[in-house]
This record gives sequence, C-alpha cells and structure tokens, in this order.
Amino acid sequence: MAMRTPIESGVPDNKQYLHPALAKNYGNWKWHDRPRPGVLHHVSHSGDEVWTVRAGTQRQMDVYTIRKLCDIADTYAEGHVRFTIRSNIEFMVSDPAKVDPLIGALTESGFPVGGTGNSVSMIAHTQGWLHCDIPGTDASGAVKALMDDLHSEFIREDMPNRVHLSTSCCEINCGGQADIAIILQHTKPPKINHDLVANVCERPAVVARCPVAAIRPALVNGKPSLEVDEKKCICCGACYPPCPPMQINDPEHSKLAIWVGGKNSNARGKPTFMKMVASGLPNNPPRWPEVSAMVKKILYTYKEDARSWERLSDWVERIGWPRFFEKCDLPFTKYLIDDWRGSRANLNASTHIRF
Ligand code: SF4
Ligand code: SF4
Repeated sequence: MAMRTPIESGVPDNKQYLHPALAKNYGNWKWHDRPRPGVLHHVSHSGDEVWTVRAGTQRQMDVYTIRKLCDIADTYAEGHVRFTIRSNIEFMVSDPAKVDPLIGALTESGFPVGGTGNSVSMIAHTQGWLHCDIPGTDASGAVKALMDDLHSEFIREDMPNRVHLSTSCCEINCGGQADIAIILQHTKPPKINHDLVANVCERPAVVARCPVAAIRPALVNGKPSLEVDEKKCICCGACYPPCPPMQINDPEHSKLAIWVGGKNSNARGKPTFMKMVASGLPNNPPRWPEVSAMVKKILYTYKEDARSWERLSDWVERIGWPRFFEKCDLPFTKYLIDDWRGSRANLNASTHIRF
C-alpha cells in the first residue's frame, strides 16, 4: 500500500508570488518616494526601480470584480498584485511609462487610486452580516457609506498625517486600533431564550466567558438554563457567540460608538489605545448618516486644527481631552469615562481578571 503523504497546511512561502523585481531586490532597497498620491517609487542598490500603484477596493469582492482586477494586472501591469492590510490593491510595474495607463484603467473601472501618505486610507472593517455569525451591525455597509463621502480625501494627501479608520461589528473580537473607529455598542443585557439553552449551549463555557461573572447556571421551568445578574452585566456580548440563545443583538438597543486616538505602529511614537468619545449613535442602515456625520466632524476638526505630522492621538495629547470635546462640539457624558473606580470591584468579581 502506498504511503500516505502528510498534507502540509499553513502560510505558503510568499517569495514564490512576488513580482520578479521585488524578489530579486528583497531586503536591498536604497530609497523610495511618492511621485503622486497613490503611487510609490522604490529604488534598489542594484539600480532596479519599481513603481507601485495603489487603489481602493471594497474588500468583500465577487468573482467578477476579482477577474476585472486580474485583467487590469495582466493588461496594464506586469501580472502581479498584492493587498495591503487596509484592503487596498497594489500593482507593481518596472517601467514608468506603464503608470499613467494603469491609473487610467483603474479609475475608469471604479477603483480610486490613492491611500498613500497623508491621506484617509481605506477603512479596515470586520466581516459584518455577510461572513460572521454574531455581528450587531454591518461593518462593510457603514464603510461604503462613509468612503463615498471621503473619496476626495482618499485620492489626495491633504491630512496633517495619515488617517486610519476602522469599523467593528461587535465589541469583543476582531477590529483594531485606528485614528477613528466605529464600534458596535450593546446597551442592554442579553435576553435569554430558555427553551434553547439546554440543547445549544455548554453552560460552563458560557459562565466562564463572562468577564464580570454576571452569568450563573439556573433551572428555568425545570430545564437547565442560565441567568444574568443585570446589575453586573456590562453588555459586552461575549456570551452570545458560544450561546446564541443569549440574544443581545437588538435593532433599537444595539448602537454605535466612536472611538479615537488609536495607533498600531511604532512610527514616531509608541502605539496608543483608542478612547470612546461618542456613544449611543443609531445603528441605521443602509447609509448610517448619523455615524458618517460624526466621523466627518471629528476628521475635519482634526484636519483644521492639527499641526503638520500630528496623528490624531498626538493632536489630542497636545490640546487635551477637554479641548478636543469643545472643538469637535461633542457632549461629554458619564458613559465616556474609562477610569471609574468602581470597575475594580466589578472586575475582581471575575475568576479571570484580578487587580
Ligand atoms: S467584529 Fe465581531 S461580529 Fe464583526 S466579524 Fe469580527 S467577530 Fe464577527
Ligand atoms: S458576557 Fe457580557 S453581555 Fe454576557 S452577561 Fe457577561 S457582561 Fe453581560
């Protein structure tokens, strides 16, 4: 009998997919610049040059869109593409004469060229209704609505520094730090569908999942179920993924919040965490107008007021949080304070977190 060979899975070696000029000059670049928004130019020690054209995509793409992008890569570029972490697509060419026709083909097909330097780059968003089982909103829909309005900031480099935006469709899982982030916010504890708990949920796993120990096993109508201490519950939604009968998504009480001042990179300063600056915005598909208006207000106040090269967190650090709320005309409420002393007692009630 023939030996069964093991199936190796995992990330393949990326060098096999690189544009030949990038593979040849790997780790050997001398300098780079940006001839215009959306175009990067790299020069290697060997004298080779590569121009990279960056365009925005909608991230969740159908097969026709992917084929269109591949056709553009084959016809106008050199058959190689790569995606950035913010879902921009990049085409590499080794001949400057190919740059303008490539930009023309992308623009004509509806892919704006930009997202480099001090622009508002594509918004990083989580999966939303299409791919995930727990979202309370559609992150990609809010992104589409907002980027329609911010298209002019994507194709120019007019901001004080680069601006990264993100949206997250629940409060507990994916997403990340961004200069301005839109994050789902539950405002009511979960409603429990007791008929389903015994068949669907592993109760110890759900109890262990709660960060503030608000969930207890309980017998309801003679059946094993769960109960929530609503005074302790912080409406995080962490119990909903392992136990869908803990219904927390709600068309009225699941809201959106805006957080600002996050940064992932170490460039020119340490990474920073975001702070919530607006809460309770309506979760209002298909265009989320209240959220777009709030993000634009913060973005354009930053653009007007920040000094050159200040990231949003640097700007807030310089002017202080009280001035930030004044300048952006945002109400400061008790829901926005994140250093509440009482939280210590709450968190100490958990089996996981101790202070
Ligand atoms: S943020 Fe939450 S709801 Fe959205 S895709 Fe990630 S895990 Fe799913
Ligand atoms: S996991 Fe979160 S939402 Fe669920 S009961 Fe605990 S605090 Fe409330």
